[in-house]
Amino acid sequence: MTNTCSKTLQEEIIRLKEEKNAVILAHNYQIPEIQEIADFIGDSLELAIEATKTRADVIVFCGVDFMAETAAILNPDKKVIVPSVDARCPMATQLPAELIKESKAKETIPFVIYVNSYASAKAEADICCTSANVVKVVERLDSDVVFLGPDANLAWFAEAKTGKRVIPVPSDGFCCVHKRFNVKHIEEMREKHPDAVIIVHPECDPEVQQKADYVGSTSQMLKFAKECDYNKVIVGTEIGLIDRMKREIPDKTFIPLHEVVCRSMKLNTLESLLDALEFEFNVVRLPEDVSERAGRAIKKMVRIL
Ligand code: SF4
Repeated sequence: MTNTCSKTLQEEIIRLKEEKNAVILAHNYQIPEIQEIADFIGDSLELAIEATKTRADVIVFCGVDFMAETAAILNPDKKVIVPSVDARCPMATQLPAELIKESKAKETIPFVIYVNSYASAKAEADICCTSANVVKVVERLDSDVVFLGPDANLAWFAEAKTGKRVIPVPSDGFCCVHKRFNVKHIEEMREKHPDAVIIVHPECDPEVQQKADYVGSTSQMLKFAKECDYNKVIVGTEIGLIDRMKREIPDKTFIPLHEVVCRSMKLNTLESLLDALEFEFNVVRLPEDVSERAGRAIKKMVRIL
């Protein structure tokens, strides 16, 4: 529950947001106090699309660095600010632009880049994808073999769903949050809650994905939880999504498959959000050519939705 101090901060943020014609976009993994006052909550794909629609002058992006970069690329005329510059995704650092250039020099096949990557890497790739649309993106490409990075588990998921060969680059890229789920967690939950359905994110290891009842992005997991016949749902992703599920689907029970927290996502607080909005610092800035080339890969993805 939101305490009095948080309530005051929330009211001040809402007042400033209106005064400055700003919009707050928040990822599903943000703390509940930020989710409560966000204009839009979603996964990377939904947030990227929302960023193209907004008429606000200022976008306050509550997520991690690569998401804010994407919003800035799609909105070159707007000011995109982040509450914390330290909210950096450790997965994105695993795919430097050089690795894409090297891969493409070895084999002339399309390079699909997961949105969880830096703009400098996106600038070298052919098309972007998110965990929500990776299957559609790989299916639509006119090639039976593609590169995909940086998440090797997402590459495995895309290969399993499309039947195409999806080569992970790097071969072992991973999310340190989803890596924490294992098969034992699933077996224990099945025994404890035989009446529940188990849903997980495609950043989980293949063995975990195979043992789950459903695999999807955070928005797909939320939709599944809303529409499924089960009253008890075991959720295998960062804990923030469960906060949203509990708020939006109060008549069902949600249990974490294992309590995992993305520390980077949690670096955004009401205090840092208020400071960034009030003083308009932490503005996302990218070199023009990088932004232009990365934008091509992102827009190509948005077009095929
Ligand atoms: S959950 Fe994983 S992929 Fe998402 S921001 Fe955190 S470390 Fe990066």
